[in-house]
Amino acid sequence: MIVNAYAAPSATEPLVPTTIERRDVGPKDVLIEIKYAGICHSDIHTVRGDWGAITYPQVVGHEIVGVVAEVGSEVTLHQVGDRVGVGCMVNSCRECDNCLAGMEQYCLKGNVGTYASVDVDGSITQGGYSTHVVVVEDFVLRVPESIPFDAAAPLLCAGITTYSPLAHWNAGPGKKVAVVGMGGLGHMAVKIAHAMGAEVTVLSQSLRKQDDGLKLGADHYYATSDADTFKQLANTFDLIINTVSAPLDLDAYLRLLRLDGTLVNVGAPAEALPLHVFTLFGNRRSFAGSGIGSIGETQEMLDFCAEHGIAPETELITADYINEAYERVLKSDVRYRFVIDTASLV
Ligand code: NAP
Ligand code: ZN
Ligand code: ZN
Repeated sequence: MIVNAYAAPSATEPLVPTTIERRDVGPKDVLIEIKYAGICHSDIHTVRGDWGAITYPQVVGHEIVGVVAEVGSEVTLHQVGDRVGVGCMVNSCRECDNCLAGMEQYCLKGNVGTYASVDVDGSITQGGYSTHVVVVEDFVLRVPESIPFDAAAPLLCAGITTYSPLAHWNAGPGKKVAVVGMGGLGHMAVKIAHAMGAEVTVLSQSLRKQDDGLKLGADHYYATSDADTFKQLANTFDLIINTVSAPLDLDAYLRLLRLDGTLVNVGAPAEALPLHVFTLFGNRRSFAGSGIGSIGETQEMLDFCAEHGIAPETELITADYINEAYERVLKSDVRYRFVIDTASLV
């Protein structure tokens, strides 16, 4: 099947309209007619080669929602017409310790990413900036009816990537949680942590998004450009979720953790980040990382968002705006996720 898409021709050129081939629907496959695709900062890191060389042309996009258009003969989980989603992975080995533990995002052989990854047939996966995708049924999520469809796509990456560490490190009543960076991931972290019952503080470069932050569920909002912020908030937080796409002074943020607090990095700058171990000795602090979430946990997150009336704040765009959207994301000028209407992929 040949379908319309938007692809990066190289690390330095703008994305352009193109067509790509999708595989035939196998017995366990689901063909999805994509309706909306979110723009994650990881898409930009990937096409620009921040994380290493990739093969071009490359279609990115791993925040996908759409409608099931066809199912293979052995599919039992989804039916034609269902509202479904696909996130950052489309397969895994299914036999390593982590896959068997239901944490295929940490597959020891490397999960098959939705794009720029080697698929089981040896081809390079192509992502969601396209009109259709074929995915094996157990990597397809159900999108609850109550979540507006045009806003749901960012849950598939930004939602799960923040839900997973918030759940794992027990964000909830009595816990003080800070979110560093109020972009795509950050604004979802605020909404989810608030819904979990935690006291939420945003640490943003400036106060220009303060009104939004407080509306989305933050209790406090500070500018990190103000040195006083770091003095005032020393030894405060149980959990800090760092969503920033660029290197940060980790020691300065670690000092904001109280006894046994943890700073979890989900932001993925290419550079190595230095830190002084002495900062960890104080308050017995931990520095951790977290990658997306499992398929089971992604479904749990979607159901949690439906139950709590949570949906991403989105700006709906047509495909011809993707390159401008990238520039705006790079300038932290996104409120708070660009979502491509795939009907514009003509
Ligand atoms: P985004 O929408 O661009 O948000 C990042 C936010 O970080 C910006 O809105 C900005 O917030 C802040 N920021 C940007 N540059 C900064 C700088 N130089 N110094 C301080 N703060 C800065 O990006 P995103 O889509 O949320 O993704 C964020 C990062 O997470 C990316 O690196 C992405 O690749 C990574 N990611 C990781 C995973 C995972 O599994 N771990 C999954 C998805 C994405 P303020 O304006 O509020 O300061
Ligand atoms: Zn992503
Ligand atoms: Zn595995």
